[in-house]
Amino acid sequence: MLLPNLRVVLVETSHPGNIGAAARAMKNMGASELVLVAPERYPDPAASARAAGADDVLTAARVVATLPEALAGCACAFGASARPRHIVAEVMDARTAASRIAPMLTAGETCALVFGRERTGLTNAEMAYCTQFVHIPTHPGFSSLNVAAAVQVLCYEVRVALLALQESGEAPAPFDRLAAHDDMEQFYAHLEQVLIEIGFHDPQRPRHLMRRLRRLFARAAVEQNELAILRGVLSAVQGGKQMRRTDAQLTQISGEVPNS
Ligand code: SAH
Repeated sequence: MLLPNLRVVLVETSHPGNIGAAARAMKNMGASELVLVAPERYPDPAASARAAGADDVLTAARVVATLPEALAGCACAFGASARPRHIVAEVMDARTAASRIAPMLTAGETCALVFGRERTGLTNAEMAYCTQFVHIPTHPGFSSLNVAAAVQVLCYEVRVALLALQESGEAPAPFDRLAAHDDMEQFYAHLEQVLIEIGFHDPQRPRHLMRRLRRLFARAAVEQNELAILRGVLSAVQGGKQMRRTDAQLTQISGEVPNS
């Protein structure tokens, strides 16, 4: 069984050997889509040596400059962290995260697992691009795995969750369709634009405003229909007048039947 919609993203990996080892770990579990964000040394013979038979995964790896580029087209992005206490949002353990990811993959959605640098992990700004967070429950006194080992454990958990789903023969449980990464990015751009227009946000003195708002919405795990409402609110603010909507329009946006 392959995991065609699972994307593994490695951010600024410094040791090419770890990239190769991650490719091997992925292929063992049936995953093949590897995206490298600004790797320090790549391609490199050390990467190929550690890939040991997973050269195809390595050769097909895409190299991009930034994390948002790596996440384009994803329905969700799980940031993997060795230090869950540093994260303000809910952090799932690896098994719980896999149980959320498996039905999405089955439904044909692309899900990303995002891994940080060997020395410093993911920055706060990068975390803000992730929709959820995952931690492999390790010994608290020594919680940081080698990045390729973390890739191994998470891809394994996703594989086991997918196998369980297949063997149960049941249709995957319905999941809340979270707003896709690209749609959230458009929303943040729209939100920033409106905040500037109404004089609340000065891009010359940003005071981490957008990063804080990103964290807030990441914590809320915004669903598709909720995002449509938020975009509607922003457009109404820009229109400078209260938008009057008919019940039929509201039903279309929220997916709910209005009270009669
Ligand atoms: N010293 C860094 C550790 C980086 S380890 C720090 O304290 O953040 C490199 C990457 O492997 C991490 O960014 C994370 O994506 C992944 N990783 C390591 N241990 C992990 C764990 N216990 N749970 C989830 N991801 C982990």
